[in-house]
Amino acid sequence: MLNIDLHCHSTVSDGTLAPAVVAARAKEMGVDVWALTDHDELGGIPEARQAAGDLGLRYVPGVEISVTWAGETVHIVGLHIDENNADLVNGLAATRGGRGRRAEEMSQQLAAAGIPDAYEGALKYVGNPDLISRTHFARYLVEIGACPDLREVFRNYLTEGKPGYVPFRWAALKDAVKWIRGAGGVAIVAHPGRYNFTALEFGAFLDEFKQAGGIGMEVITGSHTPDQYDIYAKVAKAQGLLASRGSDFHGPGESKFDLGELPHLPESVVPVWRDWAL
Ligand code: AMP
Ligand code: MN
Ligand code: MN
Ligand code: MN
Repeated sequence: MLNIDLHCHSTVSDGTLAPAVVAARAKEMGVDVWALTDHDELGGIPEARQAAGDLGLRYVPGVEISVTWAGETVHIVGLHIDENNADLVNGLAATRGGRGRRAEEMSQQLAAAGIPDAYEGALKYVGNPDLISRTHFARYLVEIGACPDLREVFRNYLTEGKPGYVPFRWAALKDAVKWIRGAGGVAIVAHPGRYNFTALEFGAFLDEFKQAGGIGMEVITGSHTPDQYDIYAKVAKAQGLLASRGSDFHGPGESKFDLGELPHLPESVVPVWRDWAL
């Protein structure tokens, strides 16, 4: 059975390894088919493709788009996209455009909470000036000892109701799916178990996602518990959605699963790669 990992990050967004280094690690970990899916960014794709080619690793160009739906942040993964598609390129540029100002506001809030110069601190971890994220702030808060690890940072800071949380409007769901499809790709709901939707909201969300042309959801992801593997396998089946598998690896020591380390998809679901020439 092929080891397929379709979700991870590099220094082009909030990962700690460069795209070529992530490729080498995927190969080392026994991954056969690999997608890099940086947040709101396509800049790592040429390096990732080249490195994967050199390593004999089958490569799928990908992205993870930040979306706001009913006030919640949702992530939509696009796979097999053409990274030169103008609408996708422009849409992502607009989506990430407000990150700089958001980061400054986050920093002001943290300063008011007794943590000065967090913007400068976070910048030390940023690999791409266009993509400063909460993860970079979280790494700085761990560095200065405000929290022991990233998980604790997100429990005490940077999330709703906590210092450093700045509400932000990302892309619209319909637009994100449209950009992905327009670029020849397939749209997948990332880590569905992570959202705070009611059952009613989640149903309405999936209806709109499918209406827009979305075709799959992650079932096996580093963000799900084993219970959630079963739950979302059933949801995918009931909703007629294909299933995906991805570690959501961000860097050594930071992620629950290393590349390719996850369980395989359950037999009960139809893999998103069913019709791919692998
Ligand atoms: P942003 O796009 O700037 O809002 O940052 C979101 C990123 O923060 C996600 O992609 C994760 O990498 C990270 N993140 C969010 N919640 C957590 C958490 N509880 N623990 C660790 N990382 C998290
Ligand atoms: Mn991330
Ligand atoms: Mn995500
Ligand atoms: Mn991710």
